[in-house]
Amino acid sequence: MSDPVSTASGRAYLAIPGPSVVPDAVLQAMHRPSPNIYGGELVEMTHGIIPDLARVARTRHHTAIYIGNGHATWEAALSNVIAPGDAVLVLTTGLFGHGWAGMAEGIGAEVEILEFGDKGPFDPARVAERLQADSAHRIKAVLAVHVDTSTSVRNDIAGLRAAMDAAGHPALLMADCIASLGCDRFEMDDWGVDVMVTGCQKGLMVPAGLGFVFFNDKAAQVRAAMPRVSRYWDWAPRSDPEEFYQYFNGTAPTHHLYGLRAALDMIHDEGIENVWARHDRLARAIWAACEAWSTDGPLRLNIADRDHRSRAVSTILIGSPHGTALRDWTERHLGLTLGIGLGLSAPGETGRDGVFRLGHMGHVNGQMVLGLLGGIETGLTALGIPHGAGALEAATAVIAG
Ligand SMILES: *Cc1c(COP(=O)(O)O)cnc(C)c1O
Repeated sequence: MSDPVSTASGRAYLAIPGPSVVPDAVLQAMHRPSPNIYGGELVEMTHGIIPDLARVARTRHHTAIYIGNGHATWEAALSNVIAPGDAVLVLTTGLFGHGWAGMAEGIGAEVEILEFGDKGPFDPARVAERLQADSAHRIKAVLAVHVDTSTSVRNDIAGLRAAMDAAGHPALLMADCIASLGCDRFEMDDWGVDVMVTGCQKGLMVPAGLGFVFFNDKAAQVRAAMPRVSRYWDWAPRSDPEEFYQYFNGTAPTHHLYGLRAALDMIHDEGIENVWARHDRLARAIWAACEAWSTDGPLRLNIADRDHRSRAVSTILIGSPHGTALRDWTERHLGLTLGIGLGLSAPGETGRDGVFRLGHMGHVNGQMVLGLLGGIETGLTALGIPHGAGALEAATAVIAG
């Protein structure tokens, strides 16, 4: 097979599930000299960022900003409500649930994992059963990942709240929305979430480096009753600062704040409902293409049921070595980077060479997704990987809607 002339020159597309594509408006907003951190524009801007973040999270309650990635928010949130020896129940549907469980262990929690595998969502009824058995109410928090980015499953957070209420259990509901916020519908207050964590580098379209913890009054009361909270992670001064310095427990993340301001403007100009609707349409185009490819050959979406799929990320099983081969091919020939597999393998295999993932979160539109799908089709063809016909027709029909 002759090697075709590469068409990789031109604007590259990083289609991995985080970091996501950063809009030019965000990059331009960050391209400036350092501002004064003791007064003036930056201080004013930050006061406005807090309510605009809360609007994206759909909460009227408290917001704390951290300089850190998603892992930092896992630890920040736990540090405010979980003391050594406290019991937490972690629902796992992929690698990221286990990651949060590990963080809880690291701060001395007694961690119990309810495992739901890597092919579907957690079952709220099983959670209710476990909570009912905890008649002494030892479990202090239930940790749930909304969208697990390794499996691309989307869990039912409102259903989890209903199950916890039905069990009459007072544990905090803590949700990881690092992959889902600004992509899949999420309603912190209406769904009864007590603590939510997210980062800035996925649906929020900013380079990695900011993390956010949202919490309600119930969680604030749990925090107030803690024997101690590590100074740096303490959300109390960050969410109600007397001085600007306290927002960040030190120097403000100056340029990230300008970038975030621009990203929030974009989200609110489009309207969060429209942002969700865009992600829904783009995800349905991707699903339609994948379902067409999977009518022949090895390619399968990891989550079979559309009702349980994320609209931010898709995990695709294709068998070794096709996953890695396809990623290498589209990057080298098309300037299109697909995501690696994380934490799971194609059926009957070990390792990640038979898996790839697509990030379709944040600053993504119809022509980008059609380019993504066309790129995959081209790679499948060039590499001789069998696949069903009609994928692009199916996707364009969804976009044309
Ligand atoms: C990306 C991600 C994380 C980890 O975030 P980092 O910024 O990489 O630390 C945690 N949970 C979910 C669901 C994620 O998608």
